Amino acid sequence: MPTLHCIAVQTPAHSRLGSLLTYKSESALTPGSLVRVPLGKRETLGVVWGEEQQGVAQEAEQKALPGNPAAIREVASVLSAVAPLSDAWRQLMAFTASYYQRSLGEVALAALPPQLRELSVEQLARRLKRRAALSSDVAPSGPIIATESIALSAEQMGALADIEAQDGPFLLFGATGSGKTEVFLHAVQALFERDPHAQALVMVPEINLTPQLEARFTERFAPLYGADAVVALHSGMTNPQRLTSWLSAHQGPALGGARIVLGTRMAVFASMPRLRLIVVDEEHDPSYKSGDGARYSARDLAVYRGRLEGAKVILGSATPSLESWHHSRPAALGGRYVRLNMPSRIGAQAGGGLPAVRLVNMALQPPRTVFSAPLLDAITQRIARGEQAMVFLNRRGYAPVLHCTACGWKSECPHCSAHRVFHKIDRTLRCHHCGLTERVPRACPDCGNVDITPVGRGTEQIEEQLTALFAEVQRPDGGPVRVARIDADSTRLKGELGRQLAEVHAGEVDLLVGTQMIAKGHDFRRITLVAAINPDGALFSSDFRAPERLFSLLMQAAGRAGRAASHSASSEMWIQTGFPTHAMFQALKKHDYPAFATQELEERERAGMPPYSYQALVRAEARSQEVAQSFLTTASAAAQALEGAAQVVRYPAVPMTIQRIANIERAQMLIESTSRVALQRFMNAWHGVLHATRNQPEHKALVRWAVDVDPLAI
Ligand code: ADP
Ligand code: ZN
Ligand code: ZN
Repeated sequence: MPTLHCIAVQTPAHSRLGSLLTYKSESALTPGSLVRVPLGKRETLGVVWGEEQQGVAQEAEQKALPGNPAAIREVASVLSAVAPLSDAWRQLMAFTASYYQRSLGEVALAALPPQLRELSVEQLARRLKRRAALSSDVAPSGPIIATESIALSAEQMGALADIEAQDGPFLLFGATGSGKTEVFLHAVQALFERDPHAQALVMVPEINLTPQLEARFTERFAPLYGADAVVALHSGMTNPQRLTSWLSAHQGPALGGARIVLGTRMAVFASMPRLRLIVVDEEHDPSYKSGDGARYSARDLAVYRGRLEGAKVILGSATPSLESWHHSRPAALGGRYVRLNMPSRIGAQAGGGLPAVRLVNMALQPPRTVFSAPLLDAITQRIARGEQAMVFLNRRGYAPVLHCTACGWKSECPHCSAHRVFHKIDRTLRCHHCGLTERVPRACPDCGNVDITPVGRGTEQIEEQLTALFAEVQRPDGGPVRVARIDADSTRLKGELGRQLAEVHAGEVDLLVGTQMIAKGHDFRRITLVAAINPDGALFSSDFRAPERLFSLLMQAAGRAGRAASHSASSEMWIQTGFPTHAMFQALKKHDYPAFATQELEERERAGMPPYSYQALVRAEARSQEVAQSFLTTASAAAQALEGAAQVVRYPAVPMTIQRIANIERAQMLIESTSRVALQRFMNAWHGVLHATRNQPEHKALVRWAVDVDPLAI
């Protein structure tokens, strides 16, 4: 009598085959086992979820498979060389699928390394054998010598003592350069000393930041535990690299696998049999939120996973998300996170404090000033002293718009509701949304006027203007000023970012221009002046999170200045703004994140915004705005009678901020509730209605729809 099993396989998003499928096998399979199963005409990877109990529902779905006979099919093979995935891992998948409203099969299979889906049982066995042979070669030889470790500051010791003594989750609120990374390193070290087979997961928001972190962790732990102790997991790796890291983490230290996984948001799903510590560095960073598929927040899942697996969770930031800040209010007021404070920069006594913030009132400058005279003076002085300066503008390209002064033509994208950006370097107009790239027209396409002009400016233009402005200035050695730009355009080629950063570190650049890419995380030791030349846009954005994001970006940028104690006595952050008295800039001037957070949270509370309410968005895309909105409106009307409908507010369908991308119209509907549980209950109940609505003939023209729970951008 064969056993029936529920198996998770990857099925198209939103297909009715979303949940588990039923297969039979001659022997009972351990839950969590990886198997290969037939699906339609293909064979695909699956994860055994459990034994089938009178699985009527699943059987019905099995029958619905296109081109599939009604008979239940047989598991083709078992990948027995890989240990079954743990119960906790499967629970994490189940939670993710249910919370973010996606199918379990999609979530679970997307969390596995892509190559695992492709390899046959034999190929995988060969890979594992090779791995085993390799790792025995590089095991540490001779006596283990700990690298010389630095004396911790009192604040660092305090934070570590709290982490040891309490359960958390912790919010490590530490200024940039306060030594948070050092605290993470020590917390990991302490864990390994207590439990020799424990594992730690350390996440950073961006791939760019992984090499730096990897170097620090490897330097610290490779001498103790071998070079294999630390593995990386991010989307910049090749599929074979990812598989190797994944297998090593899955194996765990008891069997010679990895102790530490360093990675980006995807790493939150790594299989780690003995996970005991999770660090989320720069926890406020929006990159932790996935932008497609299951729109999960790796930070929030880290907290969930920590509770699930009994792992301590440390969230770290100099400018925490308002959600985490709110969660870390005193327990007496309902806080659930333990807040740890590290306000001082390492070396502050030696003059390594935070940079002085200078606000330049642009309303008092001559009209159309790009660089105020005092800022230019200050940069000149830095360069003359052999120091570096950084100019920050969050917009790449030469100019965001080209404009014909004769007829009013603008460089709109024909396929999107957005302007195409002028890139002077190759004389193109590029749409940053759909990618459409064309040569800049010689004359206005509408009226033939040859005098079409750039409006506004991006980093490319800033670089050009600064190069011209500093042409006469000399460095201490008499040489010309070297201006460099780092943004998504300058770093398109693989390896370019690393090369350009190395130039900055080596002091081969005097003046660095760039986007947020350079404001985050990098430890630039020679930069003593950072300038934000036009940050005002975010003050008046329709997105309620824009001020929070700007504040953290500027604080991060300020954190780039004066990281070497020898310079920082006089390091500066310059901000050119039309609104120098704005409360946000005033808080920034004092490096006072708590003041900013308090004021921002009061506003959120008054307006009933997160973290005082919970939100979900349903987005719909179609050839016409009407079709997209009509789907949302119909589904909303049908939700009236659903369980929990009274506890949520369903707002009307509206066009998205960028209404059209690549000729697809986009609309969204906001769902809000003061209770997370009520919102979840409603969204679960509504899901079937959304599916049914989509399948009605009147909504055939809908291209796609998706749910975004806890959206970051509205
Ligand atoms: P953060 O992560 O808070 O920005 P880091 O941990 O990167 O800070 O520390 C900033 C710099 O100070 C690093 O170069 C680090 O090596 C150094 N550092 C950290 N802790 C100490 C310490 N206790 N003594 C001396 N230097 C330290
Ligand atoms: Zn014209
Ligand atoms: Zn476009």
